[in-house]
Order: sequence, then structure tokens, then C-alpha cells
Amino acid sequence: MPSDPHVETIATDTHTLVTIPCLSDNYAFLLRDNNSGDVALIDVPEAAPITAELDRRGWTLSQIWLTHHHFDHIDGLPELAKTHSAPVYGAKADAERLPDLDSALADGDTFTLGTLDVRVIDVSGHTVGHIAFFVPQAKAAFTADSLMALGCGRLFEGTPEQMHASLEKMRDWPDDTLVCSGHEYTASNAKFALSVDPDNTDLKKRAKDIDAIRAEGRFTVPSLMSLERATNPFLRCNDPGLRANIGLAQATDVEVFAEVRKRKDSF
Ligand code: ZN
Ligand code: FE
Repeated sequence: MPSDPHVETIATDTHTLVTIPCLSDNYAFLLRDNNSGDVALIDVPEAAPITAELDRRGWTLSQIWLTHHHFDHIDGLPELAKTHSAPVYGAKADAERLPDLDSALADGDTFTLGTLDVRVIDVSGHTVGHIAFFVPQAKAAFTADSLMALGCGRLFEGTPEQMHASLEKMRDWPDDTLVCSGHEYTASNAKFALSVDPDNTDLKKRAKDIDAIRAEGRFTVPSLMSLERATNPFLRCNDPGLRANIGLAQATDVEVFAEVRKRKDSF
């Protein structure tokens, strides 16, 4: 079969990362360890595009990783499992709201996908029990609706303190880490980011780049951690320029985060 123009792939000698658009603006991901041939699926918004991609590549799923309980990240699982079942990994703390888990995970847990080490991080805030998966050897982190491209998830369940603490756990990831987040929200996130951080040169350039990428119908996800650190307002609560722009030069980082999040909710 010809390659699907609606899917984007990053391939190296050691691993392959496939970004699959689902529903109206969700992303699911396939991560393959090329040494073992083991494949993980991260989130299951809907079955059809994922099944099509697995079949096209002739890949067999080894593991399914769930980030959080929202329907747009798990609802495709029953349909997918009819043809591509695999052990399901998710947060132990949220097990009652997730599909049946074969592996119940907690913050700090590690496991392997073939020869790749995977670290589990509790990143509560958007929901309580949201987890992220960091795969250092693949330079990839699956953050869904916690850290997002130029944004972070809305606080449906957690407090500003929780989300700020979660983002602090992610901010030290290496520059070349690919942030695999759950939605294509980046263009609207850029407009908001410019409203609180208008003098940020890196942000202004990124906003232009995003418009160009979207005009070509390409994805802004995954994004680079170096770029998130330089331009994502939710990672820049300690930046003097951003703080001055929103009139909170003397506030704590958490107070700045809470204010930026509040402004985003009504932007
Ligand atoms: Zn969500
Ligand atoms: Fe979502």
C-alpha cells in the first residue's frame, strides 16, 4: 500500500514514531522499538485510523498505553481490541475510570518496550491520575493533555498547584525530546501565548512557523522540548518579561501559572 499522507513518521535506526490523527483534532502514536520489533500504541481515540496504520505496516501491537480516562483517549479500545489486542497499561490511581488494565502504573514506575526503557510520571492537573510516558532512548515523551504544544490541558479536575508541579517534572527533559501531546491545538495556543508574552522573539517566530505548517496540512505535534521551554507560556511562569506583561512581577510561579491558565480559559 502507498504511504498515507495523513500520517507523519519519524524513523531512526533504533525506533520509529508514527503520529496518527484521530477524531477531529486528537493524536494517537505508535512507537516501535526496531531492535525487538515491539510496538506500543499511545492512546486510542478511535480504532479505524490506528488499525489501518498497523495493517499497512504489518505491525503487531505489543502494548497499549493510556494517558488518562477521557473518552477521546480511550473510546477506540473495544473496537481496536477485536483485531489488535495487547496488554493495556494505565494509571493505577485511575483504574476505576479506565478500561481494564493489565499493568497498573504509579509515578516513578519503569517498564520496557523491547529494548527501550519507559518511565511513568504522574502529571495530574487536567485530570487527577493523568500520566505521561517518557522514553529517553527514543527521545520521546507522551504527554497527551498535560504538557501540550504551546499549551497545557485545561484544569478539569486538578488545581493550579498540581498542574504547575506536573509541568515542573517535565521541564528538565532534554532539548531534543519530542513532546507527543494529544491534540492539534497549537495555532490557537499560539494566539493566546502571544497575548501574554508578546515580546518573546522565539514565540513570534514559532507562531509564524505554525501558520505555515498548518497551511500545508502538516502537524505541529510532536514538538521539541527546547522550543516548548522557550515559548510555552505555561513553562515560563518564572520569566520576568511574561510576568511583567501580566502585571505579576512579584507573584509566585504558581500564582503566575494560575493567572495564565485562567486567562486561557476565557481567551
Ligand atoms: Zn483529556
Ligand atoms: Fe483530550
